[in-house]
Amino acid sequence: MGDAKEDKQLLLAAVRIAREGQREGNQPYGAVVFRAGQIIAEAYNSAATSGDRLSHAETNALDSACRRLGTSSLADCTLYCTSEPCILCVGAIAWTGVGRVVYGVADPIDGAIGELQTIETNIATTHLSFDECDELFAEITQKQR
Ligand SMILES: [Zn+2]
Repeated sequence: MGDAKEDKQLLLAAVRIAREGQREGNQPYGAVVFRAGQIIAEAYNSAATSGDRLSHAETNALDSACRRLGTSSLADCTLYCTSEPCILCVGAIAWTGVGRVVYGVADPIDGAIGELQTIETNIATTHLSFDECDELFAEITQKQR
């Protein structure tokens, strides 16, 4: 599932949605759910504008994908996120059974799926380094969450 070029395109789609959320007044995090050549859902972190601290880009995108597909299992989906998912989102990834996760920037403080592996999972994870994601993250860490 997924080649390097496709991964980059989809990660850049997640960057675009993160920027959209930022323009609305949220922290710039974005996520895309992809399956069989199609974007199923995309979402940004809406914690600031919705007042819901649990509205992370990943949880929003996974919820939206489950509703759209009418299922609670996303085993055949890939989740693209601009930043390494946090412990909340890794929980959501585990509960929805996402088959693969691709993230753009490692989060040494709140990241929970990369090197720190806060939760032990069987999720296939790919870390890709992109300037666009690094820039988003630099803006987040400068501002404080
Ligand atoms: Zn999260």
